[in-house]
Amino acid sequence: MALLASGPGQKATDAGTAWAAGKGAKTKIMIEKVVKSDEEWRKVLTPIQYEVLRKAGTERAFTGEYVDNHEKGIYVCAACGLELFGSDTKFESGTGWPSFWAPIAKNVVDEHSDASGGMIRTEVLCARCGGHLGHVFPDGPRPTGLRYCMNSAALKFVKAAQ
Ligand code: FE
Repeated sequence: MALLASGPGQKATDAGTAWAAGKGAKTKIMIEKVVKSDEEWRKVLTPIQYEVLRKAGTERAFTGEYVDNHEKGIYVCAACGLELFGSDTKFESGTGWPSFWAPIAKNVVDEHSDASGGMIRTEVLCARCGGHLGHVFPDGPRPTGLRYCMNSAALKFVKAAQ
């Protein structure tokens, strides 16, 4: 499995390359939990970040700053900084929310059944801080067929070094 080795020009965090090499979202990484009180979160997050991440709110479609972001880089949790999604798994869903077909590693997100809002959906949470990120739907593109529909407010984009 020489493809899995990190070498010159190959970043370990390149989710698409890792996925193609049979790694990607099947990989598990070590995660140390981040626990803060509601009051502490309220202090460190902006109002929209707090509403989405801690109150499971949803930003209005087409209002988030990453809907049309096409730069190469990594999307980390806006609350705790955990690396969640790579730009190489981002796709145009047309929904108005940044959409990805896989997380960077299988265990960076937790998924739970969510019956709020009059429908059964699968909620996606940051595995480190428990922050609400969005939902995942089974109508995404290949190779996973999944659509991780995320709130820009729950993410922070870190541009890749040129
Ligand atoms: Fe987090």
